[in-house]
Amino acid sequence: TLKAGIVGLPNVGKSTLFNAVVENGKAQAANFPFCTIEPNVGIVAVPDPRLHVLSALCNSQRAVPASIELVDIAGLVKGASQGEGLGNKFLSHIREVDSILQVVRCFEDNDVVHVNGKVDPKSDIDVINLELVFSDLDQIEKRMEKLKKGKPKDSQSNLKEEAEKSALERIQQALMDGKPARSVPLTDFEKDAVKHLCLLTVKPIVYVANVAESDLAAPEDNPHVKEVMNLASELQSGLVTISAQVESELTELPLEERTEYLESLGVDESGLGNLIRTTYGLLGLRTYFTSGEKETKAWTILAGMTAPQAAGVIHSDFEKGFIRAETVAYNDFVAAGSFAAAREKGLINSSLEVDLGFVLGLALDDLDL
Ligand code: GDP
Repeated sequence: TLKAGIVGLPNVGKSTLFNAVVENGKAQAANFPFCTIEPNVGIVAVPDPRLHVLSALCNSQRAVPASIELVDIAGLVKGASQGEGLGNKFLSHIREVDSILQVVRCFEDNDVVHVNGKVDPKSDIDVINLELVFSDLDQIEKRMEKLKKGKPKDSQSNLKEEAEKSALERIQQALMDGKPARSVPLTDFEKDAVKHLCLLTVKPIVYVANVAESDLAAPEDNPHVKEVMNLASELQSGLVTISAQVESELTELPLEERTEYLESLGVDESGLGNLIRTTYGLLGLRTYFTSGEKETKAWTILAGMTAPQAAGVIHSDFEKGFIRAETVAYNDFVAAGSFAAAREKGLINSSLEVDLGFVLGLALDDLDL
């Protein structure tokens, strides 16, 4: 499962957002085992209307969405990378996630103290980035020392170490200029060579601009949001506008009243869908579906995966013993109405390459899982 960590300065709305998102997910997909694994870890469904269309077409007994594991990583403050006990622990939590969601406070509220005395997204973003940069620099320094002292090796591992050294030197330079490691172009071989370091600034970041409910309809009118937008594009990161407060209020409402409430604020869906879609997009993730009477299920793959690899996400045996995948594009399948009808019309592809948004023609009922 994809892991996303929520970070941000204190009092920006992290916990409010985390609790709302986990609570919301629970209510919207009753058939899915949503849970809070630990107080700060929750599983959230990836909202996808296609899942329900397919499930209805195939008379599935249940629909199982793809999911994301969300971690509330509280406590990242100035000086965390300086190794003061707790600070280090937060950084190690970040090391374990696939992507970072940084909540940035864009709402004014005199009752909610801001750690730096005023709402200032640029400074908030800089503080957190700097901690991540310091932590990476520290790690790279230690690694370089080790590489220097290394004993002679076979030519294969020598080649890899050379690639690692060269990549680390360039990353180090970028970090010293205050730029994230992900801004440094690397070859696949170099990427592979530095992967073991789990550098923090390699991880994709989505900035979550937390706005007042009155800003939801036209967030770009809020100068703080505008600033976050500019920074996000400068830092090659994603941006989502959300009101943690509204997300939290939504959880208190019965499902049927939520749409009405959102409409009254000038938006047509809760921020959760957007947040997850943006994270998916930034990570290059794609969804495919399997559909049968027992269930319709969404699976997450990386863009560019081949059919055997995609099948391996269901079960590693499917990758090892792969024969072929019969797939049909989502729109074709819905237009045809059934797998058999799609076959008659010649809409089924039987190939090794897969792309986004198709239905994998395996009925899960037929598989011995
Ligand atoms: P964290 O320290 O980042 O986890 O922040 P919390 O989620 O605990 O929120 C800190 C305070 O800000 C709480 O009193 C929240 O009710 C309040 N808060 C969170 N989001 C919003 C928001 O969108 N608008 C307003 N006005 N208050 C918010």
